[in-house]
Amino acid sequence: MSSKPLPILPGATLGILGGGQLGRMFTIAARTMGYKVMVLDPDFASPAGKMADVHLQADYTDHGALRQLGAACAAVTTEFENVPAASLIELANHCRVSPGADAVAIAQDRSHEKSWLREHGFATAPFALVASEASLDAALTATGAPALLKVSRFGYDGKGQARVGTLEEARAAYREFGGQPCVLEGFVQLELEISVVLARSDAGECALFPVAENRHENGILDVSIVPARVPDALARQAREMARAVADKLGYVGVMAVEFFVAGGQLMINEIAPRPHNSGHYTLDACVTDQFEQQVRALCGLPLGDTRLLSPVAMVNILGDRWHDGGPHWDALLAHDNIKLHLYGKEAARPGRKMGHFNVLDADLPAALALAEKMRAAL
Ligand code: AMP
Repeated sequence: MSSKPLPILPGATLGILGGGQLGRMFTIAARTMGYKVMVLDPDFASPAGKMADVHLQADYTDHGALRQLGAACAAVTTEFENVPAASLIELANHCRVSPGADAVAIAQDRSHEKSWLREHGFATAPFALVASEASLDAALTATGAPALLKVSRFGYDGKGQARVGTLEEARAAYREFGGQPCVLEGFVQLELEISVVLARSDAGECALFPVAENRHENGILDVSIVPARVPDALARQAREMARAVADKLGYVGVMAVEFFVAGGQLMINEIAPRPHNSGHYTLDACVTDQFEQQVRALCGLPLGDTRLLSPVAMVNILGDRWHDGGPHWDALLAHDNIKLHLYGKEAARPGRKMGHFNVLDADLPAALALAEKMRAAL
């Protein structure tokens, strides 16, 4: 551990593993607060690398780079769950690291994550672990059909998932995924999806952001609506469950818990050990945004006020829109209550998250209506 006492104050250097948009927004928040930032990411064009004081262009397992990062930084965090847990452990010999390797190891492996949730009494969709083709039959009996076969590692935004109705289809999907460990999940009739972003400090203090209602398209988040249009009791329950997950993990840092709402009940879908796409609304609609909160938790500062200042609708901007002369930024920027955030990615590919915009309006239905209109007009 670093000898640097908490809190770590502005002027110090903070490190981040991963240089995507989440790392970029962390970097912007940290630099705004007067910290220096070092980003480790192998991609020379990484969105966060361009914003950082120093971009270490190396692999996440590169011992030399990890040593350099650990020596230069008072504290290091991560922006993605697939960072090797061993790298976090190695870094922790040199400086403060949050979140810890244990929590990241759980969140980065779907089998591990689902099993941990079940063992700790959290409701999930019915699931069974699939370690071999032979186990598919029993798994499908346990979950019922239709079901979703999901790879345990490195799946994201609906990738590495297949909907299966029969044992034959399950076998074909399992082979298609190369026979790697999977989770088979019963297909749930979703009423709604919601999420809670929170921060937890060393001392176990928790600050929860308002509940977001999330709409997905093709497995990718499309729109977040805040406050979520759910009964107060359900929103309260989601926040309590999210806090209980963070407490049981002994989590330090910002994390997100995604929920399904089915039959009026909550099921936990996923845990993300980092700020989350469904928390981007906080950038413009809350007293403290999720990235400032990440800096505060990492540095051992008091957590910021998570109060919602305005109802908001957040819309993701995917690479699909870079055609036919689009996107039409002029249409978007003509509105004085829309805040645009672009991530500085050079290549626009279908499905790639290029940016987002937040629509703020005291009237939530008006915010949502304008968000939908602009989503279509872009
Ligand atoms: P995931 O990557 O597991 O979060 O899945 C991406 C999206 O697919 C979710 O946000 C849901 O919209 C949908 N989905 C995932 N799992 C299920 C399930 N068991 N039942 C119904 N829809 C699901």
